[in-house]
Amino acid sequence: MLIVEPIKALSDNYIWHIHNHEFSIVVDPGDAEVVQQAIDGKSLVAILITHHHWDHTNGVAELKQQYPDIPVYGPNNSPFELIDEKLSEGDTVSFQQLGIKFNIIEIPGHTLDHIAYINSDSVFCGDTLFSIGCGRMFEGTPEMFNLSLNKLKLLPDETKVYCTHEYTQSNIAFARSLEPNNQALVEYQTQVNQWRQQGLPSLPTTIGREKALNPFLKADDPNMQQRLSDLVRQQVSQPVSAFAALRKLKDTF
Ligand SMILES: [Zn+2]
Repeated sequence: MLIVEPIKALSDNYIWHIHNHEFSIVVDPGDAEVVQQAIDGKSLVAILITHHHWDHTNGVAELKQQYPDIPVYGPNNSPFELIDEKLSEGDTVSFQQLGIKFNIIEIPGHTLDHIAYINSDSVFCGDTLFSIGCGRMFEGTPEMFNLSLNKLKLLPDETKVYCTHEYTQSNIAFARSLEPNNQALVEYQTQVNQWRQQGLPSLPTTIGREKALNPFLKADDPNMQQRLSDLVRQQVSQPVSAFAALRKLKDTF
């Protein structure tokens, strides 16, 4: 039985811990100490990195000291220097101890070195897709980022999306400013507020929910484009310009 649990780290990061009570994989360990507490005697099999940002990699050096034989997987073009196994789109990685296999896709935009790890029912997508939002565009272009989101949209609706930040509530506030009459968004907001009041994460989400509610996955939707045209007082009729307008509006929301 494979279990995926969040390890809370830093201010609002989640390090995802994939385990079967015996073996562990961690995704984006920004902090070594909380990882060690969570691993709690299990055997660490691998460290997976989605992109180079420090809040996703800061624990790697310390973990490598404690588990010197454990490989660190990450993007082929990453500036992060502690990656042993460099991955590109189309690669697969298997971990027999956990009976798990990941397909790799490249999803640049937040950074240039961003990859996602996809297995049969889940995607670990780092800071590219959040629930009802997406990462800031630090290194990429709107074309690149929109293409990356389109790749994620192709996954089956029931795919669980393991994002690495708890930003859902503020993302919903932004989405509601764009779609004030979207009743499903109101219902999701109520649900997320309940979870957060109980101290529960709002993640994972699903591809199906994000396609229905996440404005950044609606860049090709004519209604969204019309709403954006009204807001920026300029004709927005292409997915890439819609994505660019959305990202810019959210940056100052
Ligand atoms: Zn990041």
